Amino acid sequence: MRSPVQNYLESIVEQCSGTEGEVASYIPELAQADPDRFGLALATVDGHVYTVGQAETCFSIQSISKPFTYALALADQGFERVAEKVDVEPSGEAFNEISLASRTGRPPNPMINAGAITAASLVAGDSTDHRFGRVLEWLGGFAGRELELDEKVYTSELTTAHRNRAIAHMLREFDILHDDPEEKLDLYVRQCAVSVNTRDLAIMAATLANGGVQPVTEKRMLEPAYVERVLSVMATCGMYDAAGDWISAVGMPAKSGVSGGIIAVLPGQVGLAVFSPRLDSHGTSARGVQVCERMSSDMDMHLMHVG
Ligand code: GLU
Repeated sequence: MRSPVQNYLESIVEQCSGTEGEVASYIPELAQADPDRFGLALATVDGHVYTVGQAETCFSIQSISKPFTYALALADQGFERVAEKVDVEPSGEAFNEISLASRTGRPPNPMINAGAITAASLVAGDSTDHRFGRVLEWLGGFAGRELELDEKVYTSELTTAHRNRAIAHMLREFDILHDDPEEKLDLYVRQCAVSVNTRDLAIMAATLANGGVQPVTEKRMLEPAYVERVLSVMATCGMYDAAGDWISAVGMPAKSGVSGGIIAVLPGQVGLAVFSPRLDSHGTSARGVQVCERMSSDMDMHLMHVG
């Protein structure tokens, strides 16, 4: 017998197949994406994974890497040392804003690019290759399989990263970064170019939902205190300047990426991932937002739901 969950997810994909939005073009390689791709995956904390559509199609993780690199920085350095460099306040600004918080002189949070480049710089390692090797292994540990760098996306973004380059040099000027800002930019661009699919992302989200234990491999990836912090920052800052709308309408910690992925986490229950490359004005998958709003309402997934 077909599972009712599978039937429900298929009906959601059918209902949310609109064609609003445009694929990202400021990274030339992303402009090549097929705009009609659509994948949906739901992973439970006991390791069941449901998928619909192109859930096995790979794409670059982009900013969905940010909560995980922040988690690695926390695991490497602890709360205090990370907090000396990056705060946990929503900025209300776009993801690529070139400024620091005026009150603290630090990036407001690790979900916008300034904070994410900073978080990447806090990953332990003695070279960019070593640090990136650790990031790749870390992301793979959450996904439960070995992941790879998409070289084309990496090169395409690195050669056109004028805005992120400006942000990295600003961070160096204000002593948030210490060594060569180009190396930290390089690490950040590599982390964004790691290739994943929608199924991987749902399992990564489910690992956070499961308190840091990967539900398929059963490996503990992250201590619960850090999971709580990462989910809090995703809830308040993960959707950039649409974070308030998102938490009101969907009510789950989440992270978007400009290649068209979104993850959402229902603590203790499931990780959800959607992939569709047409983006809204915040750089978030337009269909992805629709799917998450719909599922949150149909299945009472809103964390503030009171009946
Ligand atoms: N690599 C992209 C950038 O830094 C990530 C942005 C995003 O996915 O929101 O511009």
